[in-house]
Amino acid sequence: MDFNLTSLSPVAENSDSMEHVKVLILGAGPAGLSAALYAARAELNPLVLTGNELGGQASLTYTIENYPGFPEGVGGSELGELFKKQAERFGARFEYDLASEVDLSSRPFRVKTYSREYTADSLIIATGASPNHLNIPGEELMVGRGVSYCATCDGWFFKEKKVVVVGGGDSALEEALFLTRFAKTVTIIHRRDALRAGAILQRRANEHEKIHFILDSVVTEVLGEEKVTGVNVKNVKTGEETVVETDGIFIFIGHTPNTQMFAGQLEMDGRGIIIADSLMHTSIPGVFAAGEVMDSTYRQVVTSAGMGAAAAIEATRFLEREEVR
Ligand code: NAP
Repeated sequence: MDFNLTSLSPVAENSDSMEHVKVLILGAGPAGLSAALYAARAELNPLVLTGNELGGQASLTYTIENYPGFPEGVGGSELGELFKKQAERFGARFEYDLASEVDLSSRPFRVKTYSREYTADSLIIATGASPNHLNIPGEELMVGRGVSYCATCDGWFFKEKKVVVVGGGDSALEEALFLTRFAKTVTIIHRRDALRAGAILQRRANEHEKIHFILDSVVTEVLGEEKVTGVNVKNVKTGEETVVETDGIFIFIGHTPNTQMFAGQLEMDGRGIIIADSLMHTSIPGVFAAGEVMDSTYRQVVTSAGMGAAAAIEATRFLEREEVR
């Protein structure tokens, strides 16, 4: 296949501060990296702006046990590196840079980073999602001093210490189980009496001797001066408040899509999730979305990777159609 798209591109100059590409991919999680592989294999020479984290949130997971092809599991960051290597083999390029501004009002689309500007005939948005905060007193102040959103990153600092995990979903239980490698005790605090997490994780957590549960309860304050010493916990049914002594609090209460940059330009729902159809098309022709920016249902490495592949196939078809026109 040969796509010569220079006719599409009024802005064709490449200078140090400006570069034109056929396919620009924002984000290097499973969705962005798979999109890079597929766009590269269509010989579109995609450029990926990686954002903060090569491999995305998955790279912060110690072991991924449900990505097909790895019966023994695979390290999160290792999987990201493998995805990248495979895409590079076919010509994908990676810039460790962060998009700061986009202009989708006309094509080519314009994307600014803090150091450069890119124009692109098509854009694949795979900027993922970021962990939600509880927004309670003491939380922001104690980040890095006992408050964490990543057990893989910070668990090691809690050897033989007491930790609390907030949340009742898959992330909370998976990370709680990971923390048992280091911590003396792991107390899961969940706002309801039923967990949201899947059955296997629930069983493993229930059976683990280091894990305890405080249900029907919310954390209302993080306590401590120099470092976390405890959390204030309120029972939502009785209203009773207690202090739970802890050295750390790990918060896993869901995510918010990283889509603020596209507000007012792309159609989104009330939660900031980009509205895309089953072919990954957004409200603007030539702009595609994949992974957690547009999927609030599955949010799995395998589904995000599949969506990234689909977005790249659709971008390829879009560019072919434009070329014919
Ligand atoms: P999630 O499924 O949305 O769960 C978030 C949890 O946090 C829920 O239990 C929720 O309580 C609780 N929560 C939300 N806001 C809260 C607040 N302000 N205060 C206290 N608690 C709050 O998020 P997730 O666990 O990050 O999982 C996201 C997606 O990734 C899911 O689809 C999950 O299946 C997937 N995932 C899969 C795996 C795996 O397959 N191994 C691992 C990780 C994640 P309620 O239950 O009351 O709403």
